[in-house]
Amino acid sequence: MSDLLPRHRAVMPNWLSLYYDEPIEIVRGKGNRVVDAEGHTYLDFFAGILTNMIGYDVPEVREAVERQLATGVVHTSTVYLLRAQVELAEKIARLSGIENAKVFFTNSGTEANETALLLATYVRKSDQVLAMRQSYHGRSFGALSVTSNRAWKNNSLSPFNVHFLHGADRHLPQFGGMSDADYIKACVEDLRHVLATAVSNDVAALIAEPIQGVGGFTMAPDGLFKAYKEVLDEEGILFISDEVQTGWGRTGSAFFGIQNHGMTPDMMTFAKGLGNGFAVGGVVARGDLMDAPHAIGLATFGGNPISMAAANATLDYVLDNDLQSRAAITGAILIDGLREARGRLPIVGDVRGKGLMFALELVDPATGAPAPALAARFMEETKKLGLLAGKGGLYGNVLRMAPPLTLTDDEAREGLGIILAALETINKETG
Ligand code: PLP
Repeated sequence: MSDLLPRHRAVMPNWLSLYYDEPIEIVRGKGNRVVDAEGHTYLDFFAGILTNMIGYDVPEVREAVERQLATGVVHTSTVYLLRAQVELAEKIARLSGIENAKVFFTNSGTEANETALLLATYVRKSDQVLAMRQSYHGRSFGALSVTSNRAWKNNSLSPFNVHFLHGADRHLPQFGGMSDADYIKACVEDLRHVLATAVSNDVAALIAEPIQGVGGFTMAPDGLFKAYKEVLDEEGILFISDEVQTGWGRTGSAFFGIQNHGMTPDMMTFAKGLGNGFAVGGVVARGDLMDAPHAIGLATFGGNPISMAAANATLDYVLDNDLQSRAAITGAILIDGLREARGRLPIVGDVRGKGLMFALELVDPATGAPAPALAARFMEETKKLGLLAGKGGLYGNVLRMAPPLTLTDDEAREGLGIILAALETINKETG
């Protein structure tokens, strides 16, 4: 092990949790693989942290950034015109499906959500916000206050008055055995009850992740958010879809995750994969909402020329290579393969996902209880076999996988082989 871990521990916060018993120092990437400081190569099934959406060392992205660097990188924020900003905004506005959409660029998902919530609370003249149980929206006060993942909360300070709705968490006994249609009906009744009893009549917005990322890739049934939106529309309550993890075709079946629910939100927030490793986030919103405040201030580095160059090149690459369709194909290889194996592997409690965003829950085979220790064991075993994954969920027993959208069919089958081999080993150990 290198000397980096003790040095990291000495100067960086204790609460930064590192994956793996002996954390990996990644020093290079190429295609859909990364290499560590000791020369080991890994198939990256977490795409960095959903950041390297089209893999590593992509010539189109590198050359776009190099061309921008060669200009001297004059950075003027948003107070002068920048062609790459306008071009990217045009593409995102068109892809969003939102009417008369306008875009504001930030540097992160947290800032994007802050901006969307600021717009919503400004327009609606209200500090009341609805959010989803088990959500994660970032680490500012505003974003944390609509986060419902207790591991991330240090206090209850909140600029908003927040009420949490049911969606992807179906663990309560009253939801047991319900069909999706009945569950959606129950959720809508609960929303109506919240609106009737828990708030005054000027709620600003609902913010929701189409598939909950940090929450463990938990999924509300398709159609739930459309049903919610119909109720919200009755009162003019805005719908913010947090697409930080689900955007750009990752779910295979839709370009933005919320489109799986058959609806168009009022605003979407994005970040993570768009810059393929370069920091870029933002909000795309109905023009009347975006234009409503007299000013919300610029984000000095939001829309900076390097990020814009990387993001334009990344988004063009996704569209030119129809990576959304590729995610549907490779995702099916993986999800079908894992579902097929589930019957003979009692440690696997649930397999879920859409496209290249899928998860396994590991459980105690005797009791069915969440088994975070087995998930930790899975991480070590797959590391040994040359694959990186993500871990999380409310109980720490969810293995989250979101490979680059450029994953080939052969790499999908190779990854599936590694995952199954690791599961077989752990299953035997626990049997
Ligand atoms: N929203 C979602 C759904 C996320 O998963 C994250 C980060 O994981 C964020 C917002 C916050 O994004 P950032 O870490 O870029 O601030």
